[in-house]
Order: sequence, then C-alpha cells, then structure tokens
Amino acid sequence: MFNAIVINKDEAGYRAALTQLDDTALPEGDVTVRVAYSTLNYKDGLAITGRSPVVRRFPMVPGIDLAGTVEASSHPGWQVGQAVVLNGWGVGEGHWGGLAQRARLKGDWLVPLPEAFTPAQAMAIGTAGYTAMLCVMALERHGVTPERGEVVVTGAAGGVGSVAVALLSRLGYTVAAVTGRPQEADYLRTLGAQTILDRAEMAAPGKPLGKERWAGGIDTVGSHTLANVCAQTRYRGAVAACGLAGGMDLPATVAPFILRGVTLTGVDSVMCPHAERLQAWQRLARDLDVHLLASMTREIGLAEALDVAPALLAGQVRGRVVVDVNR
Ligand code: NDP
Repeated sequence: MFNAIVINKDEAGYRAALTQLDDTALPEGDVTVRVAYSTLNYKDGLAITGRSPVVRRFPMVPGIDLAGTVEASSHPGWQVGQAVVLNGWGVGEGHWGGLAQRARLKGDWLVPLPEAFTPAQAMAIGTAGYTAMLCVMALERHGVTPERGEVVVTGAAGGVGSVAVALLSRLGYTVAAVTGRPQEADYLRTLGAQTILDRAEMAAPGKPLGKERWAGGIDTVGSHTLANVCAQTRYRGAVAACGLAGGMDLPATVAPFILRGVTLTGVDSVMCPHAERLQAWQRLARDLDVHLLASMTREIGLAEALDVAPALLAGQVRGRVVVDVNR
C-alpha cells in the first residue's frame, strides 16, 4: 500500500483527497519509482483545485514532477537503485504522477538525478526551475548575451520567476524583476535582481511600441504583461514566453516583430525532447547557485499539498513548494 493524492470527478463533484492505494492500482509502465519528493507547480494547483481542466482522466494522481529511486525496471536504461528525476510528459495530467509514494512510468521519460543535487534540491528546482533553464537556453539561442543589456523576468517571485532571476544573474545578466509583491523585493535582490518593477506597470494595456528597454525577457504571466515586454524589447532582442499566470490572451500588435525584429519564442517543458532536457538539467547543475534554493523553497507533507494549491494559484506562494511525499 502507498499514500497518494487522488483526484476524482463524478456525480459527487470534483475532489482531491489523500488516499491509500494498493500497488496493483499503479498504471502501466516499465519503471517503478519509490518517490522521495514531488512539488507543487502552477499546473498541479490547477489539477488539485479543478480550476482548469488539466486532468484528462479520472481517478488521477497529480504531480507533474518527482525525484526518487528506481524500485523495479524492465527498461534497459534503468537499474534498481538508480536515482531519477521526471518532469512533464503528461504525467499528473493523463498518467498518474508524483504526488504519491510510488509511481510507475515509462523509462524513456526519466532523466538521471544530476550528481550536483539531492532529490530534495532537484525538486526545489522542479519543473518550474527546469522550465526557467529552458527559457534561458532559448534566449541564448537567440543571441541574448549579458553584454546586450538588461533582461526582464515577470512573475518573478513565483517558481519559474525565482529560478530564472537566480540563473540569469549568475550568468552575468543585469536582471529586472517584475512582481506584484513589493514585500518580496529583498528576496528578489538576494536572488540577483538589480531592479524591481511593479507588476501593475506591466499588466496595464500599453502602446504597440514602447521605449526600447530590454535585451530580452522571460515571461510567466502572458496577456498585457507579455505584450508590454515585447513592445519594450530592444532591436533584435528575444522574449521567451512560458506561462499564463496573468491570462492566456495576448493583446499585442505585430509592431515589435516587424519593426524591431524582436523574436517571441515559446517554451514548453512537457514534451521537450529528451536531449534538451538532459542539457537543461546539466546546465542547472552548472549554472544555478544551489545555496539559493533554501531561500526560495518551502517544504510540506503530502496532505498539505491540498491546502497549498489554492494559495499557489492566488499568487501567494513565494518561490517553490517541495512536497515530501513520505511525511
Ligand atoms: P507560480 O504560481 O509559482 O508563479 C506565478 C507568479 O506569477 C506569481 O508568483 C506572481 O508573481 C505572478 N502572478 C500571479 N498571478 C498574476 C496575475 N494575475 N497577473 C500578473 N502576475 C501574476 O507559478 P509557476 O512559477 O510554477 O508557473 C508560472 C507560469 O508558468 C504558470 O502559468 C505555469 O502554468 C507556467 N509554466 C509553464 C511551463 C511550460 O512548460 N510552458 C512549465 C512550468 C510553468 P509575483 O507575485 O512576483 O508578481
């Protein structure tokens, strides 16, 4: 038997609860993992609360990421005892996920736990941090180097934002952090932000083209915020868009793209090819100051995930939430 958060949807409604499951209930897969830690990402908040239809079948164990140890494997790439990390691939949406003491998965989805990290540290990074790394790599691919000027991160005090600020700063970029929580200004400065901007300034409808300010940007918010970041991006700069915490719409014009050659590059962590994931985790091991993880992380037990999910969606959680599934 093992403990899991289970989401059900039936005549009784949509509900998530801590449940004991039998091992025979585990889904198909060639690797069984003893989970040590999972996390709460924005998508897990949506799944647990039912705010958006991210869960595609029921009953579902949420949790889009996990770190743990291989307990059984018929996959040639994985042996019993190996430490692994999983992000995405629809886990926690269409296949049972990490908010459980045990998971059965496809071996092809797993990456080795980087030696630089403990399982708890890997989950302090989690899908949010791995996505932040993918965003940084996207900016690099589009020629946004530290010498090109200031870069902006929106939703900065959230999970993706916090890791993005820390990574960019460590890599030598001058970082402006956009937040709706002025009380987190010191926290963001500790992560390496040099300028703190009020979210309200960026979230209001803006002009098609603004003053050229940013060499690049990482946006977790969408809507007017993303439109404004693009409108304020300098000639031939690039903006990596990965989130929709402020809205799914994009009320923008083509002006920044056709008059300033700005690139808007989309970042998806879920189906990201294996080689790029490996690269992202290797880069995290090299480029992230692990000492900053403690300040951006709060650890909770499995059942607590149910209560923290609504707070995360309300933008009240600072940084990352790590879930110790065995407590
Ligand atoms: P968090 O909830 O941790 O962070 C989101 C942050 O956005 C908040 O902390 C807040 O930052 C800001 N925010 C919240 N509500 C609003 C609002 N109404 N208007 C403007 N800003 C707001 O979530 P994550 O960091 O885990 O995820 C961020 C986004 O990225 C989500 O939309 C998520 O779905 C997406 N994502 C996408 C992935 C992909 O593969 N593309 C992978 C992972 C995440 P502050 O208080 O500093 O303003």
